[in-house]
Amino acid sequence: MQPTLKHFINGRWETGVTLGVSENPSDLSEVVAEFARADAAQAETAIRAAADARDSWADSAPQRRFDVLDTIGSEILARRDELGRLLAREEGKTLPEAVAEATRAGQIFKFFAGEALRQTGERVPSVRPGVEVDITREPVGVVGLIAPWNFPLAIPAWKIAPALAHGNTVVFKPAELVPACAHALAEIISRAGLPAGAFNLVMGSGRSVGQTLVDHPLVDAISFTGSTSVGEGILKAATARRAKVQLEMGGKNPLVVLDDADLGRALDCAVQGAFYSTGQRCTASSRIIVTAGLHGRFVQALRERTQALVVDHALKRGSEIGPVASEAQLAQNLSYVELGRREGAEWLTGGERLQRDTRGHYMSPALFLAEPQHRLAREEIFGPVACVIRAADYDEALALANDTPYGLCAGICTASLKHATHFKRHAQAGMVMVNLPTAGVDYHVPFGGRKASSHGPREQGRHAAEFYTTVKTAYTHAS
Ligand code: NAD
Repeated sequence: MQPTLKHFINGRWETGVTLGVSENPSDLSEVVAEFARADAAQAETAIRAAADARDSWADSAPQRRFDVLDTIGSEILARRDELGRLLAREEGKTLPEAVAEATRAGQIFKFFAGEALRQTGERVPSVRPGVEVDITREPVGVVGLIAPWNFPLAIPAWKIAPALAHGNTVVFKPAELVPACAHALAEIISRAGLPAGAFNLVMGSGRSVGQTLVDHPLVDAISFTGSTSVGEGILKAATARRAKVQLEMGGKNPLVVLDDADLGRALDCAVQGAFYSTGQRCTASSRIIVTAGLHGRFVQALRERTQALVVDHALKRGSEIGPVASEAQLAQNLSYVELGRREGAEWLTGGERLQRDTRGHYMSPALFLAEPQHRLAREEIFGPVACVIRAADYDEALALANDTPYGLCAGICTASLKHATHFKRHAQAGMVMVNLPTAGVDYHVPFGGRKASSHGPREQGRHAAEFYTTVKTAYTHAS
């Protein structure tokens, strides 16, 4: 048994108040980590440490920030295979997907190392003679970062890296399913040359550690990724005390397939977007909207492709779909499969618990033909469960795509420049994909959605500065 993973608070590794365990969803006989869990008081200690370090890190030179972030990025990239393996064991995505995520985390730190150097401002003439105006960006202060379990390296990276690059200090609370990934990242960060207190890791429940971050007056900003229901509670509590809030939440992303689409490409987009990473992506395509002329052929081929997917241990060579991350998530997925049947959606394949050589949370990817009003077609499931909805033509497909409370990502497969262009303009989503899966984004451009999917400024790329900085306008009279 490995040593219990500790919190990182004020530059020291600290034991917790209680213990938690993370297990391998591919093989429940394997404990991945035993980890410290904090209570509200310990979370408060971390917040105070971040507040004490605030001025020193805010005043640090861009070169120092670059060096710290570049060092972190280099180590992650050098250890991507090992980190990917840990990720696959703890979260359950397949090893190639997990190594790609570790690589992404390293690239994100490298990108934001560069952003630390690319700080800019504006100098503009005043409307008054003899006066100059400088517009600059300053750090927000202490930021609380609350992450979900489904991208346990990349999402923390795309919050921690811009926070530090822009001179903020951090208290990071990971999801309880993935402490070993969070700890591995924190361990790398702990050796990169930050002042004590500039980065803190506190593991524990959302209700105590997360809520303490949200409510604490010393936390100036909260960046949260997770479910819409938790996000809405955070929004209320944080805005009531006027903290800055950024929320990335659920999705029910449409992939529109038009009659003129390349069938092979459209099938790749649908299978990849709906089922890879076990459907546990906020950008997963869970509504596949197909126009009448291609519907029959597409549905038959998609069913065959879905049935052929290899579901197995995340580390096994040839696995295409790993297990569901937890028993609770598996139970939720299966309950939606049951609901789909009850409400009259036509079952095409999958949606069953599977046995493999090791005891794990395995299920076969599920596909339904659904009506737009079915709950199966409206609510985020967050698993390998997708439905196909029939549309008469492009106009109806677009209307169906937009008929959702969510607005994270929307995709279209078509050979028509006219429809692709119209869709890019009229899809009510923060991100649009043409002839690409809805899941799978770049790290140097903005990420985020609309409606119930997101709130506040975008994450990632240069746009991250909008959340992690505050603007100052300074007037000078040169007398
Ligand atoms: P979740 O909302 O249950 O938990 C997310 C995080 O919030 C966890 O760290 C949790 O401990 C914490 N938390 C829970 N209650 C809290 C509270 N009261 N105060 C503060 N923190 C609290 O979500 P999850 O199950 O970990 O992740 C799945 C969800 O995340 C899905 O809805 C998915 O769509 C969403 N997600 C969104 C994006 C995006 O960028 N839009 C990306 C990945 C995942």
